[in-house]
Amino acid sequence: MKEKMERFRQLIGEISDLENTMSVLGWDQQVNMPENGAEARSMQLATLAGLAHSKFVGTEMGQTLEALKPFLADLHPDSDEYCLISRTAEEYEKQKKVPTSFVAEFSRVTTMGQQAWEKAKSASDFSKFQPNLEKIIEMRREYAGFFAPYDHVYDPLLDDFEPGLKAADVRRVFEEIKPQQVELLQAIVDKGPVIDDSLLYLHYDEDKQWNFGVDVIEKFGFDFTSGRQDRSIHPFTTEFGHGDVRITTHFDTEFLSMALFGTMHEAGHAMYEQGVSKSLSRTMLHHGASLAVHESQSRMWENLVGRSLPFWKAFYPRLQELFPENLGNVGLNAFYRAVNKVEPSLIRIFADEMTYNLHIMLRFDLELAMMQGDLEAADLPEAWNSKMQEYLGITPPNDAKGVLQDVHWSGGMIGYFTTYALGNLIASMLWEKILEDIPNLESGFEKAEFAPLLDWLRENVHRHGSKYKPMDLVKKVTGKALTAEPYMRYLRSKFGEIYDL
Ligand code: ZN
Repeated sequence: MKEKMERFRQLIGEISDLENTMSVLGWDQQVNMPENGAEARSMQLATLAGLAHSKFVGTEMGQTLEALKPFLADLHPDSDEYCLISRTAEEYEKQKKVPTSFVAEFSRVTTMGQQAWEKAKSASDFSKFQPNLEKIIEMRREYAGFFAPYDHVYDPLLDDFEPGLKAADVRRVFEEIKPQQVELLQAIVDKGPVIDDSLLYLHYDEDKQWNFGVDVIEKFGFDFTSGRQDRSIHPFTTEFGHGDVRITTHFDTEFLSMALFGTMHEAGHAMYEQGVSKSLSRTMLHHGASLAVHESQSRMWENLVGRSLPFWKAFYPRLQELFPENLGNVGLNAFYRAVNKVEPSLIRIFADEMTYNLHIMLRFDLELAMMQGDLEAADLPEAWNSKMQEYLGITPPNDAKGVLQDVHWSGGMIGYFTTYALGNLIASMLWEKILEDIPNLESGFEKAEFAPLLDWLRENVHRHGSKYKPMDLVKKVTGKALTAEPYMRYLRSKFGEIYDL
């Protein structure tokens, strides 16, 4: 077995090297590359993607995995080897079902889709994107067909982002929280404009914002010897291999929250990647368990820590010192309330904690309807607007601020949005468990002590990488299946206090 395992490690190591190289090129594209480099870069990335895919679904990988399967019975299910063989074999079987010609055609269709979406968005005219979306929906149905039989046509799409999770699981939790969230939001809206957040929209010097953000994430435990921060238009986190995790931040000198919470969010993603065990290096397991588990980490540091009162007790004096002209006369409590203001708004990425999931549920409803064939692309803008009214009580003035606001569908990523909301739910599930294990956790935040939290996450979540399927990991750590109860308890308690409900 030893020899076969070595050959297997070598094969997946080479694929992982190709993928990490693609990450470097992708990072450079968003951080440094001049505009005219786009065409050459897209060719380089396509070539590497082709090499990685053909190596992965090639005969040698198939034979090596086949030869290793008999040894699974002798391995402990928690061992790196067992997880590595079984999870890679599953992924191999999956990728083999999709014809290479389909992969190439889908890549072409979505590249064109994104171009059309950009134009449609800047003209705020959905009809310019509609034919592309029709083609994308058709190809997503065809893709699902490769995995038939399934319970729901959405399941194979979701499985690419959340291995093992089904549309019915998502529907169950969303149906549970929807009426509660809508009711809670209504109670807050009925209170009227009780919070003033205008102090966030004053002028904030970019260098000072940068320094403050670095100070915060260093205290969180972001390791600058295994990572770095740069600027980009759209913030993101990427990993180039063990010991090199990159984050980017977008600064707005007229809106403090943008970089402040954006930096904490990306640091949450990055600390997850920095915490994956070195023994999983150069394998497909050296990443977070899924998008939802990843988002649970980023949103935990951004919201459960970064938007908490104990955190600001430690950091607000320093922020006041940096910006005395804006914050000198603003008390801690007023600042805390400002960064937690709830307001139904049009754009998902700027939504507060209370309304965020409603934006996701709306997209989930529409995706299901489109995939089931109950909603034609042509009717999407109208359906979007009526859902916005139903969930948030507002109607977008145009397509750009409504149905065209997100890039995801144009890139073929139907099923992706769900993971953002699930990340919120998982963050709260983990949080309740953490507070059970470390009762004085939040009083430590008041002294800028975050090591107990990071150590807990490292031990229970990070080090495993993607050895376990996301919901198996959640069950293993919390003892529970996916549930929205902790999240609803959190919202009620936090916003009940802030809004005196
Ligand atoms: Zn994120």
